[in-house]
Amino acid sequence: MRRQVIEKLEILADAAKYDASCASSGGKRENSPTGIGNSTGAGICHSYTEDGRCVSLLKVLFSNVCIYDCAYCVSRRSNEEVTRVAFTVDEVVELTMGFYKRNYIEGLFLSSGIFKDADTTTEKLVAVARSLRQDHGFNGYIHLKVIPGASPELLTEAGRLADRLSVNVEIPSEAGLKQVAPEKDYDQVFGPMGHVRDGITEAKEERKKDRRAPRFAAGGQSTQLVIGATPETDRQILELSDGLYSEQKLRRVYYSGFVPLGGDDRVPDPETYRAPLHREHRLYQADWLLRKYGFDLDEVAPPGSGNLDAEVDPKTSYALRFPYLFPVDVNTAPVEWLQRVPGLGIRSAKRIVAARRRGVVRWDDLRTMGVVLKRAQFFLTTPDHRPQLIDRDPNAVRQRIVGGRGDGAPQLSLFAPAPVRLAAPASAPLPKAA
Ligand code: SF4
Repeated sequence: MRRQVIEKLEILADAAKYDASCASSGGKRENSPTGIGNSTGAGICHSYTEDGRCVSLLKVLFSNVCIYDCAYCVSRRSNEEVTRVAFTVDEVVELTMGFYKRNYIEGLFLSSGIFKDADTTTEKLVAVARSLRQDHGFNGYIHLKVIPGASPELLTEAGRLADRLSVNVEIPSEAGLKQVAPEKDYDQVFGPMGHVRDGITEAKEERKKDRRAPRFAAGGQSTQLVIGATPETDRQILELSDGLYSEQKLRRVYYSGFVPLGGDDRVPDPETYRAPLHREHRLYQADWLLRKYGFDLDEVAPPGSGNLDAEVDPKTSYALRFPYLFPVDVNTAPVEWLQRVPGLGIRSAKRIVAARRRGVVRWDDLRTMGVVLKRAQFFLTTPDHRPQLIDRDPNAVRQRIVGGRGDGAPQLSLFAPAPVRLAAPASAPLPKAA
């Protein structure tokens, strides 16, 4: 490989590492007799698939030249510390094919700085995908980043060529976006996002009628939110995510803790700021509850709340806010309720329901079903296990979970006054079907 291309690759792959929105989509693409490669359910990416497998992709920028000046981005116009380079279309195609044939990668994630305008940049990304598909018969995975403000015609072609598209919202409020990325606005982001959504929906409808109808971003679309560069709370961030899932039909929202780069007063100072990795983790947990467990936004992050509970995971936090809904009887509760128990996942809830058909489920049976008993012990009832602490003192349960058994938990007296029972709200939150 030519030295000049290797140097570009080092610079542009490093600049691309800040984009978290490229985890595998699980998109499928079969090989053809004249083509090369295929994209399976494992997808691609230097990331983890939804089922936990690690997959690889060539994740690179086409160019780090950018006319925009987003304070949170290493490629911003005003950053004089970086060397500016750009690939040619042929160079990216050659790299992708070379790495794919050597089995280094399973696909390509291609983004770019905006080097002239949105359409000129998008044309280059589309040209790479077109050449890979049409000139080289490449059937591996392609994820293209949509440049905010790109025209519908280019987006349509991008959707025909790529397995996944993503347009990054980046900052979780428009006011915040204006503050740190003055050239951007939400229209530039949500216009293309809506076009991609409609393209996906129409292609699915067409393929129901005719399986030969062309695909359109069959792996769906995703986005990234930068956490911590601007002051939005977790509730505000999850409100936005909830809307992105329900209205824009996004497959995934990725949360990326802001990494301070220095040299820009519009974002937190690297001397005092630490990337909010713990917050990022809690947001992924809450997002999971919204997408997979049938929780409502208000159950995960109550209206008016700020950030998620740092001490306990969002499901435990929910259970501690609604103690009168627990403990849940392992042998009679519907699967939707079992899934709401801290320490119980979807798979173990289903295992419990299956085991009930064979007989009464006892405490020891739960261990073999993958239940995290350290948390679940306070919220589940079996014939040989009857916890009462959640009813009497949810704060003591919190202390036991946070601090380990006994740490900080008050010893309950046999002669203590009768526990105060919290009144159920007029409309107790009922689980939706997952
Ligand atoms: S437009 Fe994209 S590449 Fe350019 S500065 Fe903003 S985030 Fe960075």
